[in-house]
Amino acid sequence: MRSYMVAGNWKQNLGPAEAAKLARQVSMGLLGLDLKGEVLVCPTYVAIPAVAEIIKGKKTLLGAQNCSATGAGAHTGEIGVDMLAEAGCTHVIVAHSERRADSGETDDDFVNKINQVHAAGLTAIFCFGELLDERKAGRERDVVKAQLEGVLPRLASATPQNLVLAYEPVWAIGTGETASPEQAQDIHAVSRELVSGMIGAEAAAAVRILYGGSVKPSNAEDLFGRADIDGGLIGGASLKAEDFLGIVKCAQAVS
Ligand code: PEP
Repeated sequence: MRSYMVAGNWKQNLGPAEAAKLARQVSMGLLGLDLKGEVLVCPTYVAIPAVAEIIKGKKTLLGAQNCSATGAGAHTGEIGVDMLAEAGCTHVIVAHSERRADSGETDDDFVNKINQVHAAGLTAIFCFGELLDERKAGRERDVVKAQLEGVLPRLASATPQNLVLAYEPVWAIGTGETASPEQAQDIHAVSRELVSGMIGAEAAAAVRILYGGSVKPSNAEDLFGRADIDGGLIGGASLKAEDFLGIVKCAQAVS
């Protein structure tokens, strides 16, 4: 049986002081909960040490929003996974649509990054999902298939433990428009089927597939209650402790 994950992607928000404050509110809010899944926060790089200090020994996990595609060396401005691990991260988000769009990252980059993450013993959260035009053209299944096929079969050591998938339709990210639970479940089921052909039926049944795109406390329970939706990757709503904790409670309610 898959347990849920609720992951907060804080994006380019909150410096060390503000991030520490939010991390404290989140970890305090989780104190009284008998967690049936995992709760993760992903601050900016510079806020990672401050957040790590706050959540040490608590139930909140720590992730990074990105990492270098290579090992240590002459790569100005990059941050390697070993450094992230040393700073307390256990997870790294890879292939977020904002990195695909803003930084032109490709399947090769994603493969290299995820392989780096796995070599360091960390878990990768691999994001995929179609653009609005692609959805309007009825091409969402083809897009998702190409994104999964371009990366998953090329991973050196992926397991359901060190890989989490996150379906994030780009038209639903930060727009306030959410995929309906039916639309999301449809793509999650298709994705699980596709993944089965790539990493095997047993691994596909065990791998978690999160939904991301304007998840809020008001819609989370309906989304997370669907058979193939194993929690969420949360952007905007993860910046307010009350909303993020509300979403965690929705995951708890359907687990
Ligand atoms: C995200 O950026 O991964 C995301 C899902 O953002 P939002 O929840 O704001 O749509």
